[in-house]
Amino acid sequence: MVKAIVGANWGDEGKGKITDMLAQDSDIIIRFQGGANAGHTIINNYGKFALHTLPSGIFYDHTTSIVGNGVALNIPVFFDELNEVISKGVPKPKILISDRAQIVMPYHILFDQYEEERLGGKSFGSTKSGIAPFYSDKYAKIGFQVSELFEDEAELREKIERVLVQKNVLLEHLYHKPLIDADELYNTLMEYKGMVAPYVCNVSLYLDQAMKEGKNILLEGQLGTLKDPDHGIYPMVTSSSTLAAYGAIGAGIPPYEIKKVVTVCKAYSSAVGAGAFVSEIFGDEAEELRVRGGDGGEFGATTGRPRRMGWFDCVASKYGCRLQGTTDVAFTVVDVLGYLDEIPVCTGYEIDGKVTTEFPVTTQLEKAKPVLTVLPGWKCDIRGIRKYEDLPENCRNYIEFIEKEIGYPITMISNGPGRDDIIYRGFEK
Ligand code: GDP
Repeated sequence: MVKAIVGANWGDEGKGKITDMLAQDSDIIIRFQGGANAGHTIINNYGKFALHTLPSGIFYDHTTSIVGNGVALNIPVFFDELNEVISKGVPKPKILISDRAQIVMPYHILFDQYEEERLGGKSFGSTKSGIAPFYSDKYAKIGFQVSELFEDEAELREKIERVLVQKNVLLEHLYHKPLIDADELYNTLMEYKGMVAPYVCNVSLYLDQAMKEGKNILLEGQLGTLKDPDHGIYPMVTSSSTLAAYGAIGAGIPPYEIKKVVTVCKAYSSAVGAGAFVSEIFGDEAEELRVRGGDGGEFGATTGRPRRMGWFDCVASKYGCRLQGTTDVAFTVVDVLGYLDEIPVCTGYEIDGKVTTEFPVTTQLEKAKPVLTVLPGWKCDIRGIRKYEDLPENCRNYIEFIEKEIGYPITMISNGPGRDDIIYRGFEK
């Protein structure tokens, strides 16, 4: 069976923890989009890890971890991460890399930096990992697939030269930066070839066989619905689709094979980068939630930058779950809210004097003001609880209130960062 694990919001919902947890009963874990621009933090018996490109299933010896064709593959970053994980005592994971995955080129990273510099105050708040230039080139049909590293030398050199004509014009005239040398780039690609060679695979064929054998497969998403280029808060979005539907494309499987969509929602909101964030809070209130949040504060796993904080947003989450095609909600980081006397929840948006519970397009979103409903807190530590009935009544009320507002079943409640900090509430493995 294929399950997708995706985010309902702006990312950082705790997908890594849920993937690591569900990987226990899975055979294959695939990353299907995004790149090294965002991170998943995972805490397990080997320690604490911030993964960027490695799938979150690498901590078991029974799993195969796959980089799907939809991923932006930064080869040196990928292998640095792999070596770091191994150096911390994790057994060498079984890894496959799609022959159709495209490569983040050194110039993608440069262009990302140069463009943010050029835009100054109007920048997108990019992590400067080269993701936007990478996907632009992919769809402009000048990207490099992993398989091309193994083809004819003359053809590869010819393509490099062709692409560099365009890149060097921009470097010289738009950014006023040093030009790229074709031979140097070819040599870099040959280094990349040596690194990926043992792992390259026809992934869609491999998965076809695995599905015929009844294997359990997880598709691991990065970021969340609101960062999707089509359905998110465009243009403050990422450059590849964050939706479960794209899992079929970014892994190379039929869409109807995805039987479960586990959408991860955090019990409060956080966001990185610019863009409308209706339930955002500020000042001391935000700082306290930021410091207490996650497993050691809400700070970016890739950049370390402080995340913007807010109350749970039912409007955004209902929409986020709908676009994902949610079958199950995993409701995470509930333990963090135990310090609050009262917990505001955003239940509507007021736009031009009218209240709506439907998430609007970006131009309307910028005008939206939050309508808050305040629920009583539970004022205690809920970590360690394993049965739903054992949660304090106000905590259950908070969960059930949100479940009703978003309209999708919360079948898992995460009350701590560890693998076993989970309360099942009707989730069928
Ligand atoms: P992802 O990108 O969706 O995987 O999310 P991140 O890893 O960026 O952020 C989630 C953070 O919350 C991580 O630091 C996790 O260790 C932590 N986390 C996940 N679930 C829980 C939970 O239930 N309770 C607490 N306290 N922390 C959690």
